[in-house]
Order: sequence, then C-alpha cells, then structure tokens
Amino acid sequence: MKSLLILGHGQLGLMMAAEAARLGLVVDRLDMQTGELLRGTTAQRLNIDADALIASYDVITAEIEHLPHSEWLDRIYASDKWANRLAFELLPNRFSQKTLLDQLQVPTAPWCLLAERADVAQAHQQLGDALIVKSTTGGYDGKGQWRVNPDNGEQLPEAMFGQLIAEQKIPFQREVSVIGARDASGHCYFLPMAENVHKEGILRYSLANIAVDEALQQQAEAALASILGHLNFVGIMAMECFVTEQGLLVNELAPRVHNTGHWTQMGAVTNQFAMQVLPLVGLPLPQSQSCRATLMLNLIGCEFSPACISLPGVSYHWYGKEVRPGRKLGHINIDATCSAALKKAVSVLSPHLDEEHRGLLAEAVELHR
Ligand code: ATP
Ligand code: MG
Ligand code: MG
Repeated sequence: MKSLLILGHGQLGLMMAAEAARLGLVVDRLDMQTGELLRGTTAQRLNIDADALIASYDVITAEIEHLPHSEWLDRIYASDKWANRLAFELLPNRFSQKTLLDQLQVPTAPWCLLAERADVAQAHQQLGDALIVKSTTGGYDGKGQWRVNPDNGEQLPEAMFGQLIAEQKIPFQREVSVIGARDASGHCYFLPMAENVHKEGILRYSLANIAVDEALQQQAEAALASILGHLNFVGIMAMECFVTEQGLLVNELAPRVHNTGHWTQMGAVTNQFAMQVLPLVGLPLPQSQSCRATLMLNLIGCEFSPACISLPGVSYHWYGKEVRPGRKLGHINIDATCSAALKKAVSVLSPHLDEEHRGLLAEAVELHR
C-alpha cells in the first residue's frame, strides 16, 4: 500500500486525505507550525525527525504553495520524495510565475516589477492608470493587493518595494478556471472550465461545466498543458483566467487542488482530490469522464447549518474550523445539470442560509440562464 504525506493541515489536505483513504492509501498530514502529524481524524504530536519522516512515505506533497522554511522542512524539500520541486520553487512567487508565463508565451495580464517607488510612475506609463499591485509572495483571497491609480500610489508600503509586481487592471468579461492533471508519462487530463465569481478578492461561487465555450476550453488546455509539461509536473494544477475580448489571459497558477475545483466532488466521478493523488502514486488518471454541471457556493463567515446536510440535490461540506468573519468555513455543491434542477435545489437550500449567501445563490441562478 502506497503512503503519502501532505504538508499542511487545512481543508484542502483533509479532503485530499479523505479521497486518498477511499483509494486504500495511507495518508498523513503535517501541521508545519506545530509539527503535529494528523492521521485520519487523530492528531499525534511528532518529535520531528525529518529523515525518519522522509523515509516513512512514498511521496510528499502539499496542500498550499506558500510553504514555510525551517531546517527540517528544507530537508523535506531537498529529498527525492518531495514531488514537483520546480513548480513549488517557481509558482509561489508572482515574479517567477509571471516570468514563466512570459517565457512560455502564455498570455497573462501585462505586468512589471516594482523594485523601488520610482517604478510606480513607470508602471503607469507602461500599463495605464488602473493598476493592481500584488506582493510577490504570500498573498491569497485578495490579501497583499492594492488598487493603485496615479493619485494613491503613496499607499504602497516602502518596505514592500522589491517584492511587488504591478499588473494592468484587466476589464475582463468573466473569470474562469481550468483544472488539469498530468501523470509521470506526460498524459494530461483536463476538467471542463468553471466560471468563478469573486467579491473583494475572495471566491464566492463557481458554476462549472455550463455552456462551456469550446474554443476557450481548448485555449486553456493548450496553455496549461505547456506549463505542466515544462515543469515536468505530476498531479493537479489549477489555472485561473480572465476572459477578455481578445481571449484568455492567465491570472495565476496554483500547483495543488483548488477551491474552484471543489465542484468535482459532485460533478465528476474522479474528483480533483483523486486526480491529485492518483498520478503521484503511479495509478492511472481517467481517459475521459462525463461531468455534470455543478454550482459550488463557498460558506464564508457563517454558522454551521445541520439542516443543509440532507437536502435533495445538495451536498454540504463543513471544515470544522472556528467561525470568524470572512473565513472560508465550508462549501456546498449543488446540482446544476439544468436550470430547473438548480432552481429546485436552491429553493430547498435557501431557507437554511443567511441573507448574504441566499443573495449569492440567487445571483448564481441568474448567471446559469
Ligand atoms: P486566490 O485566493 O485565488 O489565490 P489571490 O489573493 O492570489 O487569490 P488573485 O487571484 O491574483 O489573488 O486576485 C484576486 C482577484 O482579484 C481575482 O480573482 C480578480 O477578481 C481580481 N484581480 C486580480 N488581478 C487582477 C487584474 N490584473 N485585473 C483585474 N482584476 C484582477
Ligand atoms: Mg492566489
Ligand atoms: Mg486567485
């Protein structure tokens, strides 16, 4: 039986571990801050010995790309069990990620490095008045970003220069993402695109596999295939894109399972968590599968709702985290195979949600038309 260690102890690793357990694999997760090893639902405090840890598993992967460093973690990243070293070196830093996209001639939002404050004026000249400035490392859910115009550049903290990029603000029509997996022999498998709606930089819902534009899907698959191939990547990668009049622009890449792929837990027989694990342990990826249209709604800053657990057409996921405003606490997958099915599921679900989440569902139903 193959064994897998996942760095990270959040919901992505938990869902990956649950899926891997279904496939008969031994999966542990590691809290990189405390050094606690989590097996199933139990947590064991571990006396960290990186070499013993490395020897205990067939493969080591991560649920996040922003990885901390320490003497023992660096030994893990240097070991031959650590999967996808190159991707985890290049992608977590926006400078090296954007440089890679440019090298591979994958269209992305025009950008430049802000090495010092004087570069902001240069960036406006090159990219226009409306800029999105992003820290090169550590950002997620829209954190570490600044909306910059020629009048408010002083908001950028002095200490950040050298670790900032400026991007042209793209007047996109829609945001989409594509998830793809690659096995060690180079075979790739892609899922149909999801349309993603963010508010204040946080993903609120995804509508997947609905009226997919074949030309866009093909463009996305070709771009992601070239990235996966270049990185000799094994496992799953998510690619977020802007849809513009000129076609797709890649926003960012994540070398891991992704929030915009959660719909696959309902809409695909082989979901994104399985697609991460299978190639990593040398098991085959699907050649094809027919996916069902699905709406995924993130549950953010709200209370656990037991009534949602057993509603028709609805699959409720709760991460067991402490409730805090703005925090992702769970998600709901909803049958969207046709607009009637979606409306029916939404009508049974809505009474059990707060006003904000009800509003998002109503918006998603409109988008489905
Ligand atoms: P995630 O949680 O997906 O990792 P993140 O914090 O890494 O998010 P981005 O995905 O880069 O940040 O940006 C968050 C959102 O901000 C995007 O989904 C998009 O809505 C908006 N955004 C980012 N860059 C641009 C841009 N260049 N032009 C227009 N909108 C943008
Ligand atoms: Mg990101
Ligand atoms: Mg993003």
